[in-house]
Amino acid sequence: MPEKTALPLNAPETDFAAALIKRIGHAGPVSVADYMQACVSEYYARAAVFGTAGDFITAPEISQMFGEMIAAWLTDLWLQAGKPDQVNLVELGPGRGTLMVDIMRTLANWPDFKNAIQIHLVETSPTLREKQAIALNTYTPHWHDSLRTVPQGMTFVVANEFLDALPIHQLQKVKGEWHERCVGFDGAKFFFTHRALPAGLKLSDFMPADFMAAPDNSIFEVSPASLGVVAEVAARLKQSCGAALFIDYGHDRSGLGDTLQAVEKHTYADVLEKPGQRDITAHVDFAACVTAAQDAGGVRVHGPCTQGAFLTRLGIATRANALRAGAEDVSLIEAALSRLIAPNHMGVLFKVLGLSAAASNLDPAGFSDEVHTP
Ligand code: SAH
Repeated sequence: MPEKTALPLNAPETDFAAALIKRIGHAGPVSVADYMQACVSEYYARAAVFGTAGDFITAPEISQMFGEMIAAWLTDLWLQAGKPDQVNLVELGPGRGTLMVDIMRTLANWPDFKNAIQIHLVETSPTLREKQAIALNTYTPHWHDSLRTVPQGMTFVVANEFLDALPIHQLQKVKGEWHERCVGFDGAKFFFTHRALPAGLKLSDFMPADFMAAPDNSIFEVSPASLGVVAEVAARLKQSCGAALFIDYGHDRSGLGDTLQAVEKHTYADVLEKPGQRDITAHVDFAACVTAAQDAGGVRVHGPCTQGAFLTRLGIATRANALRAGAEDVSLIEAALSRLIAPNHMGVLFKVLGLSAAASNLDPAGFSDEVHTP
């Protein structure tokens, strides 16, 4: 009788982890960007990631008021545009579809706008596409892998907590030189390491001059994927007219530092443990997004401003008052309002960036006078 072979110590918990270990075994450490990309798409392929029972809660899942404010923002623009009878309403990374459901329900007050809308959802996770189909079963949304296949024509784009899920590269200063931060596997666990930057890469193309001489161990993050999305949206608006709204957590000035984070069951966790089973995100560099939009050209850039200021200017307090009047438990409305706009919750960390077609003269609400003209 052959001896029973014992399971190797630290056997990978999932096929995904096993495949990642194999990949690293064959080709060496993967960049933080490749690691994040692989983990995020694996993670969103799983079902129960949102809500109180999931790993995290996003603004539309906190309260219907969030979607109602976005609906008001969109309606104002549709009126400004002269009530066009065909509009693409695009959502990037719609999650469970809650924001779109709330927007469309609110537009019952504006049937001409509602009827003009064709819903387009840019979503790569098959599992979430199924959830969105159920949530939006009274409409006929179209799904896309990217903005490229969304038809031309007047377009409004909304993206809440989408950019933070797109991969970032981390550059790390080691012995006076910038390197690419990578993830390796030592036989028992994943660990951070680094390698030389690709030959010919021009740091000055994307790194602010002040950061070049940063001390050893400094980390600089850049997300070509996010900046590419912002540039693509800008190009689309320039071509088709319309406006876009990006809402995410992040900073309005580029900085140094490691913002890669993992969250599991509402608690911060190690990004290198349980790959593919934890939500991994990074802060959005809104300053870099502004530059990407301006470089794309043909758009006016509005903000970024804080989520608290944006929702307050759109009238969320008035809406909360109306909901309070009919609520059984007013404390729930209070709590939701506070989570969305209070500085110690999402009010300040979350930022809102608007884009509008320069040719259109659209003046998106909520940004006060924070306009970067092209
Ligand atoms: N906007 C939603 C969900 C945010 S989570 C909310 O606020 O609740 C991020 C969403 O982006 C998920 O739907 C995820 O599947 C999707 N996503 C992540 N990377 C993507 C990519 N590269 N292309 C399209 N969708 C992506």
